[in-house]
Amino acid sequence: MIRAAHNGVNRGEALWYHAGLPLELPDSTAGNPMSAQILDGKAIAADLRETIKHRVAERLASGQRAPGLVVVLVGENPASQVYVRNKQKACEQVGFHSELIELPKETSQDELLRLIDELNGRDEVDGILVQLPLPEQIDEDAVTERILPTKDVDGFHPYNIGRLVLRQPILRPCTPRGVMTMLERTGIDLVGKDAVIIGQSNIVGRPMFLELLMARCTVTVCHSKTKDLAGKVGAADIVVAAVGVPKFVKADWVKPGAIVIDVGINRLDDGTLCGDVDTDPVSEVASWITPVPGGVGPMTIATLLENTLQAAELHAEQHA
Ligand code: NAD
Repeated sequence: MIRAAHNGVNRGEALWYHAGLPLELPDSTAGNPMSAQILDGKAIAADLRETIKHRVAERLASGQRAPGLVVVLVGENPASQVYVRNKQKACEQVGFHSELIELPKETSQDELLRLIDELNGRDEVDGILVQLPLPEQIDEDAVTERILPTKDVDGFHPYNIGRLVLRQPILRPCTPRGVMTMLERTGIDLVGKDAVIIGQSNIVGRPMFLELLMARCTVTVCHSKTKDLAGKVGAADIVVAAVGVPKFVKADWVKPGAIVIDVGINRLDDGTLCGDVDTDPVSEVASWITPVPGGVGPMTIATLLENTLQAAELHAEQHA
């Protein structure tokens, strides 16, 4: 067992967990205020990327090609341009072949669908990622459904969501899968835990529900019409916040010793980033907490790489 303090990074009173080995839960029964251990997404993501890099090197050494990801960006949304650049950089770091296709904002739905058909047919393309949001003339669902399910590295295709519903997942949505990797790294047995998710979006809340259910948690999904949200959060061993409201989850809602996962990324007026959890006070109650930035965010990108490698392995099996 290693203590998080090993990596020498302190943030407030919390201890940072250095990726790799499970840690024991702090004693939540002592009646003292707790100081949460930090689930360091940056460190766990770095670990995952190293593993992927190693697997890519093995593939190359055995004469296989590097996994290939094509990112399609339509229009010039500045936030999307940043996301796409980060994804490309991450691909290069692990030795993937990555390609960016930039299309003008006037691109028609038919043109985009024809491009996806072409990418579906290219053997060296393992993953296709169409950066959302798309201009209003394009139906995002039609685009998602056009991508071959084995190349759907975002995990949003109805086929892949259906596989997750049936507990036979193939490619899984990146953010919830990344959260599961973080939870696994705590070494805590998730079976039978009460989990509450705040948020029911297709990209986070709903697949998060399916992931936690598959891990045999008892899961409640809350949303904007939920009654007594604080009461529901207060009964949970695991809280996942995906609301999009800064510092929404308050310390007096959280059960002492709960694991708190903060998916939110909000930019405040002063330009700083914060999550959906009131981190400092909640850290005094929770046993584990994810920071923002440096928590779920880096895991999402690392999981995209994991999915692309998995897609490449699937394609290799199909062609064997
Ligand atoms: P969304 O806007 O699609 O969904 C928000 C959800 O919160 C909705 O289901 C809504 O019902 C619920 N909600 C809103 N107000 C509420 C309230 N008062 N009480 C209870 N529920 C309420 O958002 P999303 O796309 O799921 O993203 C959520 C947050 O996560 C955002 O901050 C987003 O930026 C962030 N995000 C982060 C990552 C990552 O990699 N870290 C990935 C995706 C999204």
